[in-house]
Amino acid sequence: VSRFEGISVAPPDPILGVSEAYKADTNEKKLNLGVGAYRTEELQPYVLNVVKKAENLMLERGENKEYLPIEGLAAFNKVTAELLFGADNPILKEQRVATVQSLSGTGSLRLAAALIERYFPGARVLISSPTWGNHKNIFNDARVPWSEYRYYDPKTVGLDFEGMIADIKAAPEGSFILLHGCAHNPTGIDPTPQQWEKIADVIQEKNHIPFFDVAYQGFASGSLDEDASSVRLFAARGMELLVAQSYSKNLGLYAERIGAINVVCLTADAAARVKSQLKRLARPMYSNPPVHGARIVANVVGSPDLFNEWKEEMEMMAGRIKTVRQKLYDSLTSKGNSGKDWSFILKQIGMFSYTGLNKAQSENMTNKWHVYMTKDGRISLAGLSSAKCEYLADAIIDSYY
Ligand code: PMP
Repeated sequence: VSRFEGISVAPPDPILGVSEAYKADTNEKKLNLGVGAYRTEELQPYVLNVVKKAENLMLERGENKEYLPIEGLAAFNKVTAELLFGADNPILKEQRVATVQSLSGTGSLRLAAALIERYFPGARVLISSPTWGNHKNIFNDARVPWSEYRYYDPKTVGLDFEGMIADIKAAPEGSFILLHGCAHNPTGIDPTPQQWEKIADVIQEKNHIPFFDVAYQGFASGSLDEDASSVRLFAARGMELLVAQSYSKNLGLYAERIGAINVVCLTADAAARVKSQLKRLARPMYSNPPVHGARIVANVVGSPDLFNEWKEEMEMMAGRIKTVRQKLYDSLTSKGNSGKDWSFILKQIGMFSYTGLNKAQSENMTNKWHVYMTKDGRISLAGLSSAKCEYLADAIIDSYY
């Protein structure tokens, strides 16, 4: 009998499992709105031109495949912090930021969770309800206690701002508050600039530590600076904070696993100590990060020409998503039955739309209409084309009523 007899089959991942089910469906109308990956209008994966150019440069230079240091590629770490905080942010000159390249957004969050577990025993992380499903897995596996703060209001399909503030206020002093820097996943609902100020007030009052997850910089508004404004607002207040970054979406580097964890500290001395401990945590987990994606980012962000071209491509991607968002709204509204107000779809930003469909309705979308999506009612607009908006609107209306 197998020594592994006691191991039962794990349930499929609620997000990545959707793609597996999609692949198995033979219906030609099928639509994959599960995973948040950008597709062209022809619904094909997209490799950015600037990425191809950067890769050509790398080949021409004949770069080697030696190990990176534990903290990653120096040129990457420099530009990633600059992209996030703004190149002229005094916290960079003051060397108050510990930046460590890690395994995309997920790996960066996991490394930060390990830091919290080791140096803030018993501290809890507050996550939004709902949030990206993997947040709970990450903190569970790192043995960091977490609880939720209110975020989504089903009545308005909008932000429950009062609830959010009340729950952050009620959390034990010194908690970590996980915030989505922009384009909240799964709801697509972000606080307004005024609301961000209020959130920062409460976090400061309670001596909490803000912990940003920035997986969509540039993808929400199309502007890298605008999408970083929440993080910069907190940094400008002189607060200490954590920021996990990902280049999966904005540079389309999903499989390259490129991102970083940034810890903003009060002093350069504290930042140096934090960085040394992040390296110590990374070493037994994965030793050192992969070089390919780091070089791509360093080349794109570090070269004015490629950087400008990247911004144009990002605007194009964000623009396509905005176009299908509008088109889906128009299709839903023109069907017109029952006079339901669909305007919440236009208020949401980023790759996702939270449709308000419940579990049974989401299952109807898949089982009857071959529209693959997560059971929480989230659809990825990045996987939708203009041509499929009518079909999707029919499916949504059928599932709602
Ligand atoms: N955080 C959020 C909110 C996300 O949506 C994602 C991607 N789905 C990530 C982090 C991390 O993705 P990755 O590990 O590919 O960078």
